[in-house]
Amino acid sequence: MSQALNPFEMALKQLDEVAKLIKLDKGMHQVLANPKRVLIVSIPTKMDNGEIKVFTGFRSQHNDARGPYKGGIRYHPQVTIDEVKALSMWMTWKCAVADIPYGGGKGGIICNPKEMSNGELERMTRRYAYGIADIIGPRTDIPAPDVYTGGKEMAWIMDTYSALKGNYGQPEIITGKPLPIGGSLGRNEATGRGLSFTVREAAKKLKINMKSATLAVQGFGNAGQFASQLVEEQGAKAIAASDSKGGVYNKAGISIAALRKHKEKTGSVVGFPSAKSISNEELLELDCTILIPAALENQITGRNAKNVKAKIVAEAANGPTTPDADEVLYKNKTLVIPDILANGGGVTVSYFEWLQNLRREYWTEDEVNQKLDKNITKAFLDIYKTHEDYHVNMRKASMVLAVNRVVEATNIRGLWP
Ligand code: GLU
Repeated sequence: MSQALNPFEMALKQLDEVAKLIKLDKGMHQVLANPKRVLIVSIPTKMDNGEIKVFTGFRSQHNDARGPYKGGIRYHPQVTIDEVKALSMWMTWKCAVADIPYGGGKGGIICNPKEMSNGELERMTRRYAYGIADIIGPRTDIPAPDVYTGGKEMAWIMDTYSALKGNYGQPEIITGKPLPIGGSLGRNEATGRGLSFTVREAAKKLKINMKSATLAVQGFGNAGQFASQLVEEQGAKAIAASDSKGGVYNKAGISIAALRKHKEKTGSVVGFPSAKSISNEELLELDCTILIPAALENQITGRNAKNVKAKIVAEAANGPTTPDADEVLYKNKTLVIPDILANGGGVTVSYFEWLQNLRREYWTEDEVNQKLDKNITKAFLDIYKTHEDYHVNMRKASMVLAVNRVVEATNIRGLWP
């Protein structure tokens, strides 16, 4: 997205800091600083008025030392190549933190899906799938949903890919699919559910009683809605929520279920009864126990970090906190559960979906949720220990773990040709 700090520069800065900490070999540092491949595709699309509009799309494949590239595809007017590159690098770390056998990839199309008809979206999506078909594959690069994409788009991509490559159904080419074509139970809620498990563990460590905790969520899309609902179920009281149109605040509490219904009906949280309106910026500075940034990058920055009052910041979005803000929050003893840990539930259940597809199996929702809990809780505890042992913030601790795992795999495989 176009903003003060270029997301790829931010990703490189995070890598530089960890490289220093673990005395990373210079050559290896360079390997990890660049995606292995970035594809730019031009996507001519027939619009409903008969005109042809050419969209630009990307797929960045950052690293596949530990397994196939994995990561979502986002549709947004402010997508840039640098954003997609950064997000693909974050996916490499995220998959390594979750300890699932994937590398990192990411895709995006510069478009405004809110202003497009279903037919336009389908034609654009299928043409993009056609454009990237030769570099993705069930064993090489497995896409998934991201900002403003979901099951519908995944189904079109699966169908297009399957028709192009052998003309038989290949559900394992993509995750986040609707259930009837091989989606997994629990995938839709997975990012929010995983995040709620990390918040539960963080609260235990900080001795926070969830019954007296309050919660604010910036961004009320898929991840934000499920994350806040599941943290609310742990006993916390939601007091504020926002989306791209604005925010709402009520100190006495906001029912997340009621707010979801309101958003479903009106398209936004704005106008929710008996709540005051609040801006996205104000929400971040509210007096609350748990803050969930679930929108876009660059929200908590060097400018506003000092005003953040939350004890726990759980990043449902990718890259919402800048490196200078990280320093401020760490000094102020705010525990940041970094994106590559906090929102790793999505890709973890994507992995479960892929396994079910490869084996033509169906798991129960309980099985999925329990496996997710086990996986993400272990990652949280490992990272928390590193953060305590080495006196570094949680982001650095998770980056140390991730980079070491990727370096280890790269070294064992060796360089060839
Ligand atoms: N787009 C999600 C993420 O940023 C999910 C990726 C996936 O499931 O592959 O983690």
